Amino acid sequence: MTQATNQYRSLWQELGLDLASHDALLEAVGKAYHDAYLSQENRPEGMKYFDFVVSEIHGLRVKELMDARKEGRKVVGTYCTFVPEEIVLAANGIMVGLCSGADFALEEVEKILPRNLCALIKSSFGFKLGKVCPYLEASDMIVGENTCDGKKKAYEELGKLADNLYIMDLPQTKNGNSKEFLRTEYKKFIKAMEQLSGVSITVEKLQRAIETVNNKRKAIHRLSKLRAHAPAPISGLDSLLVNQIAFFDDPVRFTDSVNTINAELEERSKANDGPFAANTPRILLSGCPLAVPNWKVPFIVESSGAVIVGEESCVGERGTRNLVDTTADTIDGCIDALVDRYLSIDCAIFTPNPDRLSHIQEMVRKYNADGVILYGLNFCTPYLVEAMNIEKVLENQGIPSIRIETDYSREDVGQLKTRIEAFIERIQG
Ligand code: SF4
Ligand code: SF4
Repeated sequence: MTQATNQYRSLWQELGLDLASHDALLEAVGKAYHDAYLSQENRPEGMKYFDFVVSEIHGLRVKELMDARKEGRKVVGTYCTFVPEEIVLAANGIMVGLCSGADFALEEVEKILPRNLCALIKSSFGFKLGKVCPYLEASDMIVGENTCDGKKKAYEELGKLADNLYIMDLPQTKNGNSKEFLRTEYKKFIKAMEQLSGVSITVEKLQRAIETVNNKRKAIHRLSKLRAHAPAPISGLDSLLVNQIAFFDDPVRFTDSVNTINAELEERSKANDGPFAANTPRILLSGCPLAVPNWKVPFIVESSGAVIVGEESCVGERGTRNLVDTTADTIDGCIDALVDRYLSIDCAIFTPNPDRLSHIQEMVRKYNADGVILYGLNFCTPYLVEAMNIEKVLENQGIPSIRIETDYSREDVGQLKTRIEAFIERIQG
């Protein structure tokens, strides 16, 4: 235990965390981070900021949240990219993504949820039951969204464990009624945020919030574009970390930090500098979201001689690619702009969902990828079903692809490494 973590013990106690379990979690995350991240070579200087954020993942940021709460601001925890940060910010709230990237208290979880549910859902329960997530405990409101069947049924159970769970409904298609449907839900969410915060959401506040979140996305777009260069100026692991931290850092500070690293990466690109050689096989990773600290597959890929040049994922380009139109000057106009933006997310819960395939093809071209890894969590029906068709289409177009099904355990690391190495050999020809 470092001195830094000691100073936060009373904070964690105040939040009702199980300190012994929490120590074990921090140690495991610290080790995973050391193995996957700090062992990388030739990392950009700008990653120091993100390393710092990880080192303080349950410390400084949680303290900031608690200080903000003391000043009357509300913290909103979320599990999905469909919850508009713009609305939370416009109510002077702070939005944080909730932990769901590691197994915890699995035995307890499987007393409530079936074994054959995706690791992401089970993880969110494990963090609640094991009392190890300060973000979850510091949230004044937790938003559960009705997306896949697993999530919507699991939220019924989560509601029994957390008395501050708000459920947001979502359309499952993108036909004529879907916009109206989402508009109604976002209006309800505006009301709920106003009630929670006591702040009334005006058009000016909404416009400012839209600009703040757009700026965050623009900084990530700039980073993504830089990865198209060969050699890639930054590893996929580091880029993934930036995308993961987007979910809980302060949005303005985060944007500045991403732009700082972007300036450095621009220089690196000009100098043809990067962590991998220019002829390193380039991989696009596509599928289920990769929440902190789920670095297993990216680490295997990049320690097997390839570089990940893009993530078609909610923790990645699926979650950030579209901006909100900024021309509206009424509340209703702003809500419509939000609806248009969020409804274009091509999550696999939509039926049909042709835009996702087009987006993958577009990303392969834009980032000069040599192959695609379709990443699916075990038992995730939406992404696993889509992967079968996407693999066929890509292969027919001469784009090598491989489907991977995994979870958060370490048991399949050897087997995954063998398959991924064989895939990399195949794309090298
Ligand atoms: S994959 Fe779908 S349900 Fe999951 S976070 Fe993304 S948008 Fe939400
Ligand atoms: S869409 Fe898949 S990965 Fe996401 S929560 Fe549902 S089953 Fe899990």
